[in-house]
Amino acid sequence: MDRPSAGSQSPRDSHFEIDDIVWSPCANLGYRRSRVVSIDQQTDSIYVGDNSGSQHAVRKSEVRPFYDVGETRTFQDNTEMVHLDDANILDNLRKRYVKDEIYTYTANVLLAVNPYKELPQLYTKEVMSRYWGKNPGTLPPHPYATADVAYRQLLRDRKNQALVISGESGAGKTETAKITMRYLTSMSRTDAAQGTRIQEKIIAANPILESFGNATTVMNLNSSRFGKYNEMMFNPVGSLVGAGIRTFLLESSRVVFQQKGEKNYHVFYELLAGMEEEDLDSLCLDRQSSYKLLHSSGTKPLQEKSVESQRLGKQFKELKQALSIFIDDETDTTIWQVLGALIHLGEVDFVEASRPEDLVSSEPSPCASPCSAAAASASAASASGTAAAATADVGTQPATVEIHPDTEESLETAADLLGMGALSIAKILKFKEMHVNRQGRVSHIKCPRTLAQARQTLQCIIKILYTRLFEKIVARINEVSNAGANPDAHYQNIGTLDIYGFERLEHNSFEQLCINLANERLQQFFVEEVLEAEQRMYAEERLSVTEMELPDSAPVVFGIQALLTKLLDEHSLRAVKNLVRTEDKDQKFCELVHSKLVGKRGPIMALRLKASRGNGGPGLHDGFQISHYAGAVSYSTKGWIDKNNDSLVPEIETVLAEAETPLLQEMADTSRTAHSGERLCSVSSRYLSNLTDLLETLKQCSVHYIRCFNPNQERKPGLFKPKYVLDQVIQCGTVELVKIMHYGFPHRCVLKDLRGRFQKLLPPEFAHYSDRDFMHAVMLAWEIDDSQWTLGTSRLFLKAGQLRALEELRDTG
Ligand code: ATP
Ligand code: MG
Repeated sequence: MDRPSAGSQSPRDSHFEIDDIVWSPCANLGYRRSRVVSIDQQTDSIYVGDNSGSQHAVRKSEVRPFYDVGETRTFQDNTEMVHLDDANILDNLRKRYVKDEIYTYTANVLLAVNPYKELPQLYTKEVMSRYWGKNPGTLPPHPYATADVAYRQLLRDRKNQALVISGESGAGKTETAKITMRYLTSMSRTDAAQGTRIQEKIIAANPILESFGNATTVMNLNSSRFGKYNEMMFNPVGSLVGAGIRTFLLESSRVVFQQKGEKNYHVFYELLAGMEEEDLDSLCLDRQSSYKLLHSSGTKPLQEKSVESQRLGKQFKELKQALSIFIDDETDTTIWQVLGALIHLGEVDFVEASRPEDLVSSEPSPCASPCSAAAASASAASASGTAAAATADVGTQPATVEIHPDTEESLETAADLLGMGALSIAKILKFKEMHVNRQGRVSHIKCPRTLAQARQTLQCIIKILYTRLFEKIVARINEVSNAGANPDAHYQNIGTLDIYGFERLEHNSFEQLCINLANERLQQFFVEEVLEAEQRMYAEERLSVTEMELPDSAPVVFGIQALLTKLLDEHSLRAVKNLVRTEDKDQKFCELVHSKLVGKRGPIMALRLKASRGNGGPGLHDGFQISHYAGAVSYSTKGWIDKNNDSLVPEIETVLAEAETPLLQEMADTSRTAHSGERLCSVSSRYLSNLTDLLETLKQCSVHYIRCFNPNQERKPGLFKPKYVLDQVIQCGTVELVKIMHYGFPHRCVLKDLRGRFQKLLPPEFAHYSDRDFMHAVMLAWEIDDSQWTLGTSRLFLKAGQLRALEELRDTG
């Protein structure tokens, strides 16, 4: 089921006649310029012809009027156009793009089309100064203008501001976020009390976050694999006093596995390209080896002195420089040691132990692995409250797997670098530690892991260490960036949200659902806070503006949240307690989704996916499909139960806590040790609660939107693929916004304020007029076209461009 999109709604006032030039739908171009040849009133079809002489029928509702203003004339604000529909918005964006005018307003939402080339003239110091303190709309659209409005409103209203930057992967969110942040850091003053410049810290945090949190993907050579909300704090006089970063769900699976054509996090390659030879030696690394962690997707190690290697080397130096602002030398050394250790851990492999026949459990059990067998009997013992002799024996069983002799050295090197004992790590890899509660007495047993379990445990450890390292670095950046701020003072902030865009990959999993949920909720927020609020305000001001039907995200948001919190968490907990067979826990979860959430007319549908390579084993396995606001996405449930548990290897916590270096000790979470019992540290619950916090934060802010569009997937400058952009324009709700703003009035000014500003436009006899009558008189006296304004009870509403015209009148009048 497809949810309604603005693109499919018929333009309300279109009336076509023979020979009219129109936009007709086209699979490649989105819309094609055509001529009306004939009209069939009965079927509501229109026959259109194009330059090639071919003719075909299209439904009237899919045809858009052509707005002929010539190829070069464009509109800075889409709401200024006469015909407001997807076809004309698209054409306006295209014509501007070819002139390197990559920014366009839709009322106060800024649209940005990725130029895929440097446009330094757009971002000079001089351009920054031009935007400082200017009325929006008086200068060409620019992220500087959006940032400036936020800054002015923060000072004027004493209210937090948020810049929400959205768009698909590669659309330019991170670049745009940096552009706005650079503007705010360059233009605002620093508090004199601040010793070092806070600006420097805010700018230095970016390369660190990008090295550790960005990677090359098929969509983007520098794709952010985490979401972030950057807050800059200002004191009441507008000086920058501190900053903070909130991050969301780093994609940890990337550290151990990358799809074809993709890479691991930048920092690994930067380390290998840029580190001095002797430092590399101390990590036992070399530049020529093809390490599994970094080259599993088939990429080759870099040629020394190649352009790419030099680029990465330079980035490494910049990264070191940036890190030095936040951390001391000792921590710096530890960070490289941890990263080196992860590369070595990636080399470790296992072999079956020599006497596997000894390990077959005598206990009849549905679970295939020795570990699950032990668990099942342990749970049974725990549940029945009887002492089962069989479970006690399990602890004495020999290992099922050994470290592959060829990779023992890698494990030892990794352990050395981590300041841990190789034996302790090997023990975690080979045995699972479990606790059994028998008649109130807790006993601990160790049961051997299978080959597959040992490999999975290794991957979990690598992911845990990387994620914790990332979190520690972010925490450190926050500490240092807030060092100068007075903890008791009440500051206002401007937040910049750069969060992963909607994803529809070939194979979609747990991460994609989390990412798409964030986008659903932001879209819902946009509809509620911007579009509905707009309609409400017209009603309050007693203006007659036609109501539009707005997309409703509630059913899909509700469905996904139920899926994640209820079904996934409950099922994950059952898996933790070993109440489901390990082998088909994902399958069982999928069946639950099918039985509990799939409805005839709901947004979630059952799905049978054909498994292909990289999507897990031969045969069929199930999944589900969700109709998102931005299109339908098919998800496969393989691996979800493990991905949802952040505490799969609780044994690692004790080893971390006992490590030699302080940073590693700090990375331990002792609340999760194996001794703390069978617990689920639910990734989805934490994510949902972060997301809810974020939306709560946004609700307290005045929100400013920047929508980024990707013009092509080839990352080519100058290439504007209309159909590709059209899909994004429709998906993000821009068409509804344009219509509301156009049928409505984007500028709304409080009458009292206006009167103050325009007092001198009328003679003193008007002094006794009410504010409303006074402004009415101004509009009549200056003969402003009455289609361009309307009076509400407390505000004057103006069409796009009219505020600028009024200000000019004031200046000349
Ligand atoms: P993801 O969701 O994958 O993180 P993103 O939306 O953050 O994607 P960016 O990394 O900001 O995308 O942009 C992708 C690339 O596009 C950049 O590396 C840069 O090459 C180019 N780009 C984006 N915006 C601009 C700009 N304003 N000027 C020049 N190049 C740009
Ligand atoms: Mg990004």
